Amino acid sequence: MLEKFDRYPLTFGPTPIEKLERLSKHLGGKVELYAKREDCNSGLAFGGNKLRKLEYIVPDAIRSGADTLVSIGGVQSNHTRMVAATAAKIGMKCRLVQESWVPHDDAVYDRVGNILLSRVMGAEVELVDEGFDIGIRESWERALEDVRARGGKPYPIPAGASVHKYGGLGYVGFAEEVRAQEAALGFSFDFIVVCTVTGSTHAGMVVGFAKDGRQRRVIGIDGSGTPEKTRAQVLDIAQKTSALVGGKDITEEDIVLKEDYAYPAYGVPSKETLDAIRLSARLEGMMTDPVYEGKSMQGMIDLVERGFFPAGSKVLYAHLGGVPAINGYSYTFRNG
Ligand SMILES: *Cc1c(COP(=O)(O)O)cnc(C)c1O
Repeated sequence: MLEKFDRYPLTFGPTPIEKLERLSKHLGGKVELYAKREDCNSGLAFGGNKLRKLEYIVPDAIRSGADTLVSIGGVQSNHTRMVAATAAKIGMKCRLVQESWVPHDDAVYDRVGNILLSRVMGAEVELVDEGFDIGIRESWERALEDVRARGGKPYPIPAGASVHKYGGLGYVGFAEEVRAQEAALGFSFDFIVVCTVTGSTHAGMVVGFAKDGRQRRVIGIDGSGTPEKTRAQVLDIAQKTSALVGGKDITEEDIVLKEDYAYPAYGVPSKETLDAIRLSARLEGMMTDPVYEGKSMQGMIDLVERGFFPAGSKVLYAHLGGVPAINGYSYTFRNG
């Protein structure tokens, strides 16, 4: 579905799928859980889902003649880390706006993890006191102006690389990659579980899996805490991306988003999220973070326990990365 689009390789290639044998067993053994390790997709600063999106955005950035990638996220944004790494890799400058999206006061929250990595990679990091919103922000517009005022040529990349004309393409490619891996494995997955916030990961998957009628088997777990906005953004990106790639019509019913796990707020883990992080770490050695994958892990575990997945189902957990942010939660995990 993506042949006509330019792609700048930032990842190693197809990501591995591994069976979560001990976690499946622990949860009763009726459902087989697998993980697709998007968190291990690249040598660029710990990798993650944003690189799959950026692979289809970078050719446009290079064509534009820009010299600075400009983007935005929370203080512990994985996305801004990935933009910083990409800028370093392609020889551009990087300007990042990091907003106070998370009401969290770990002493070293703005010194460690993602923001530390972005600083080391040479990005110019600006901390801004604005709350959580997945939309287009004024602080970001100001950063673009500032780059221009200094004689630079900015290339804007919105939060999560989502509301960009090519933002949904990477995860259309994910679906194609899964289909090829299923052919080699000799079975196919009944459900795909994905953490959803700015929306283009979920949206791309919906478009990609619509090709074989599985779009409603993509189970989004909301991590935003603003599910109405997130759902609308997923639908909008999916419809635009489908039109772009010549895919099927996507309707509201095609967007499955579970709203029960983002509490108490974006970036703040509940006790149940922390339990899920510890469980997958202790049974599988697989690390997840308190902002995103811990919540989708919690959601998947809860859905298994509630019998949402029929017995015998094969469920693919898309592990989208994000572990560096756990360093910002040192107090929470001080006793493990
Ligand atoms: C960005 C991100 C998500 C959410 O993806 P969206 O495309 O923004 O919905 C999930 N997990 C991790 C680790 C992320 O960095």
